[in-house]
Parts: sequence; C-alpha cells; structure tokens
Amino acid sequence: MRIISTAYIAGRFVPVQGREWLDVVDPATESVIAKARLADREDAQRAIEAARRAQPDIGRSSKQQRIEMLRRLEAALAARSADIAEATIAEYGAPAARIGFVTQYASQVFGSMARILEDYSFTREIGDACVRLEPVGVSALIAPWNSVAGTICSKLASALAAGCASVIKPSEFSPLQTQAVTEALHGAGLPDGVVNVVTGRGADVGDELATNPHVARISFTGSTATGKIIARAAVDSMKRVSLSLSGKSASIILDDADLAIAVPLALNGGFNNNGQACIAGTRILVPRSRLAEVVQLVGSTIAGLHVGDPRDPFTTIGPVASQAQYDRIQRYIARGLEQGARIIAGGEGRPEGFQRGYFVRPTIFADVSNDMDIARDEIFGPVLSIIAYDDEEEAIEIANDSAYGLYAYVFSGHREHGLKVADRLQAGTVLVNTLRPELIAPFGGVKQSGIGREFGVFGLESFLEPKTEVAA
Ligand code: NAD
Repeated sequence: MRIISTAYIAGRFVPVQGREWLDVVDPATESVIAKARLADREDAQRAIEAARRAQPDIGRSSKQQRIEMLRRLEAALAARSADIAEATIAEYGAPAARIGFVTQYASQVFGSMARILEDYSFTREIGDACVRLEPVGVSALIAPWNSVAGTICSKLASALAAGCASVIKPSEFSPLQTQAVTEALHGAGLPDGVVNVVTGRGADVGDELATNPHVARISFTGSTATGKIIARAAVDSMKRVSLSLSGKSASIILDDADLAIAVPLALNGGFNNNGQACIAGTRILVPRSRLAEVVQLVGSTIAGLHVGDPRDPFTTIGPVASQAQYDRIQRYIARGLEQGARIIAGGEGRPEGFQRGYFVRPTIFADVSNDMDIARDEIFGPVLSIIAYDDEEEAIEIANDSAYGLYAYVFSGHREHGLKVADRLQAGTVLVNTLRPELIAPFGGVKQSGIGREFGVFGLESFLEPKTEVAA
C-alpha cells in the first residue's frame, strides 16, 4: 500500500503535521490503493512563509532566468509523464486514450509560456509615463480533482513567468497525481520556496490561503460554490482573485450541419473526461425538424462507445472518480425521469456486466426543456440533455439561458454561419466545428463560470500588477 505523508515546502519533501488520513480508492475496482496524510492550516502557513522568503529573489529574476526555469520544468514534466499517466489512471479512472493529452499538456504549457515570455516586454511607455508590470507577489494556486496535473502546471507556468512564488493547493482527492507532478516539479531544481505544494482540505489549508495576509493573489479553479466562498474570504486582505468555475455549456447543432459529423462530435464534447469536465457540452440543442435523425445517430454513436477498464486502450469512458460522484450522477438521472425527460440511451445503474467500480451508463435524455434540473445544473458525469429548438433565434436564447457561461460549441455546414452564431453566445470560449481548443488563447468564464482569464499572455498578465512611473 502506497503511503503519501509529505508536503513540498522550501524545496524539500517534509512530513505534514496534519493528522487526518484519507483512503485513495481506485474508481475502477473500489479497492483502497493508497493512504494520504492531509496537510493542515499550520502546514499551509509554513508553505506561505517559504514562498514569502522566495518572493524577493524570484520577483527580481530576469526574463532569461525565468525562461530557463520554464524550460527546465517542461523537460522535468516530460521526463515523468509515465508516472503522471499511471497516477491519473489509477486514482482517477481517466481512460488511457485521454492520458496522452493530459501528460503532454502538463509539460508543454511550460514550453508555451517560455516562448510567450521571449517576446514579452515588462515595461510600456504610455504618454509621459513608464508603466512597469511587476509580479503581484505570493500566489495561491488552488486546483480541483478533475484536472490536477493540467491545472497545477498551467497556473504555475503563468505565476513563474510573472515572477511570483507559489503555494499550490491541489484537491485533497488527488494525492497520487499531485505526488507525481510534485516530484517532477522538484526535478526542475527551482530555487527553494518558489514552488510549494500542500494537499489538504479546503476548510483549513484552502481557507488559510484565502485569508492569510501574506498571500497576494489567488488563482482558483473549482466549483462556483467554492469560488464564492474564496472570493468573500479573500476580500479582507484585498487579494487579486481569479476564478475558473463550473459550466453547463451548450452545443448548438445548426440546421445546415452534417449530422453524421456533428452528432458524434457533440457527444464526444459532452462525454469529455468521463463527463467530468467543466467545459463539457452537456446541453445539445438540435433543430426540432431534425430531432428524429439526431436521435437515431445518438443510438449508433453510443453503441460505438466503450465503457470500461481505463487501462484498456479501446476504452472511451472510464469510471467516474468516486462513490460521491457516482451517487450524484444517479440522483440526476432519477431527477431527469421524474421531471419528464425521456431516456434514449443509458439510464440508471451500472452498465451491464459491471458489479464493481464507479461505472456509469453514458446517458442521453431527449424531450428536455431548459428549465429542468438536468439542463440547469452541472451534473459532472456522462449525462447529456437534448433540447429541441424551432429556429436559430430560439437556439441562441436557450444557449444563453443559463447561470453559467464557460464554453459553447456550434456545429454548422458553413464556418461563417457557425461564427455568426458564436458571436451571439455568452461564453468565454466558443468552438465552431471542432473540439480542439487553442491553449494559448484566453480561457475563463462569463456569468457564474468565473472571473478573469487564464492561459497564454492573459494568464501571465493576471499575475502582474501595473505600476506607473512619471519622471520630470
Ligand atoms: P471544489 O470547488 O469542491 O474544490 C476545488 C478546490 O477548492 C479543491 O482543492 C478544494 O479543496 C478547494 N476548496 C474547497 N473549499 C475551499 C475553501 N473554503 N477555501 C479554499 N479552497 C477550498 O471543486 P471540485 O469538486 O474539486 O472540482 C469540480 C468543479 O470544478 C466543477 O464544478 C468543475 O466545473 C470545476 N472546474 C472548473 C474548471 C475551469 O477551468 N473552469 C476546470 C476544472 C474544474
């Protein structure tokens, strides 16, 4: 049995002081595969202190020094990609087919940031003033369980490029992935205290980061509910806060779309990461006149999906991450039925042949109206709703009728037509006829999906504070 009982503080793996132990369960087998000792508030304080000591030097480091550190991180993450992949499968159930993206991204994000930095100027002349873009200071990077490696690395790349020392608080539910990533970060040999990692509960470690006066900035990714708690807690010390939050994204299939292409793409976008993706397109809007064709294509697409062992290279959907996730998803499937939606694929319980593991049947509801709970709430599992619309205006109205606005997808036979609709959608990102995002373009949400933007130059600038100097 693997035991994880350290935090990473001031360049060393040190025993955590927290007393709580958490079982790590393999979601495919329900067996306990490791035990993790969680950090507590005092561990968080030690990590903040280490970052505080490191801040002056990293804040004064040259652009070239930061580029070199980013390059070392890129190589270090690439060197440990097999370990990160193994942890992500074992602890999280991510299908082997998705793992390539997860591990590549964790390394490449440092390389992309190094390239951005090469052309970036930290000073600007504006009128009579010289504006210097200075590091905001010690930054807390808080990550959810559903994309640990990517979230940690992307936030760290931006913070380091800006010259900020960081305290990373990954979800308490991903200690194996965190350990693999942290060992890789350690391998890059950054100055002590520039990166610190404490895995613990939100209520103590997270709260300490949100309230400690020595933390200047919080970059949070997680649920809208937690984001609100953090924003409130952080205001007293006036931290700079960015929030990447929940979503309930629409996939609009326009009436000129080639359904044989659009329906499988829309389903893949919805089932992304076993359905546990903030950006999943979980409301599929289809022209009423083509509903019957869509339903038929849904059937054949679902038949081609392979739910099962995440280690099997043919698996497209693995188990969801935990018993809590499994139960939540089952509750929403039952709720959809109670409120009058019609199941056209999947349904309650495990898929046939599975007695153990948190496997969920990929489920599609038709006859969904946008006011049902399954259309309004983020379910965070492979459960999608098909909503029929009469004309394009109504499609846009339904897509925008959501508390959230993280992502949207449009499928059309004509790129320009798709883009015209995209222009009218309230979302941080809209993908037209593709599921491939641009990972150096800004990422974030409107409405309850968040505040602020990450990735690329926008991510870098979210860790900088402009200072104006005018000299006579
Ligand atoms: P969560 O909000 O429960 O937890 C996220 C992180 O916040 C964890 O590290 C948790 O320990 C910490 N936390 C909890 N309470 C805290 C507090 N009081 N103070 C400080 N930190 C606290 O989210 P989750 O269940 O881990 O992740 C799933 C959610 O994250 C979904 O809603 C999903 O949409 C969202 N998400 C958003 C994005 C995005 O980029 N927009 C990406 C991935 C996940």
